[in-house]
Amino acid sequence: MTGLKAHSDLDGESGIAARLQAVRARLDAAVLRCGRDPAALTLLAVSKTQPQAAVRVALAAGQRHFGENRVQEAAAKFPALRAEFPDLRLHLIGHLQTNKAREAVRLFDVIESLDRPGLADALAAAMAREGRRPALLVEVNLGDEPQKSGIGRAAADDFIADCRTRFGASLIGVMGIPPAGADPTPHFAWLAACAHRHRLGVISMGMSGDFEAAIASGATEIRLGSAIFGPRPATV
Ligand SMILES: *Cc1c(COP(=O)(O)O)cnc(C)c1O
Repeated sequence: MTGLKAHSDLDGESGIAARLQAVRARLDAAVLRCGRDPAALTLLAVSKTQPQAAVRVALAAGQRHFGENRVQEAAAKFPALRAEFPDLRLHLIGHLQTNKAREAVRLFDVIESLDRPGLADALAAAMAREGRRPALLVEVNLGDEPQKSGIGRAAADDFIADCRTRFGASLIGVMGIPPAGADPTPHFAWLAACAHRHRLGVISMGMSGDFEAAIASGATEIRLGSAIFGPRPATV
């Protein structure tokens, strides 16, 4: 861990605003150390399991990008908030079942978990029916771990090329999570190189424990949950 843990003296609503500010300062410092532009880094606040009130506090503090890992949970929390904050951007970062593709297309602005041909089929059909085109990221299973989502490394280039043909400019980037316990840097470097090969601008990688390494490797989007909202109330 790099110290982005919840502080026990920062509980409740003021805690969220204070943690958000502290996190932003650390992200900006890490970006500047790499000679990059802080404005080019998107902070995604991962609000899974957090109540709507917590999301509203983050919105009031200026946060606009949110990540959820379940369609049903996002459907319960976000439509009302979107009416209040029309510029909020909702990202799906969890595994997507094909039978939920249509609801996901209705609800999300960015779907980061496109990881298999069957889901590409379902999303293409859902986009056609809904007349709505969320931006898409291909998720790569960086460690080729059987229990994790994501297209395997060996299949990633062909799958990305197919998605580019099929979705055109809606395909904007790649997402990945390095295996727990491994040095994340080679995994981040692989994902960044993959994005560059395919001329994709968005590289979503880095969480609370490894965001500095991710930024050094070229991340354009960092996903932080507990560092902003505190410990999650329920198991995920
Ligand atoms: C939960 C989650 C995160 C955030 O995790 P924290 O440890 O709370 O920062 C980031 N990315 C994905 C895909 C997640 O599921």
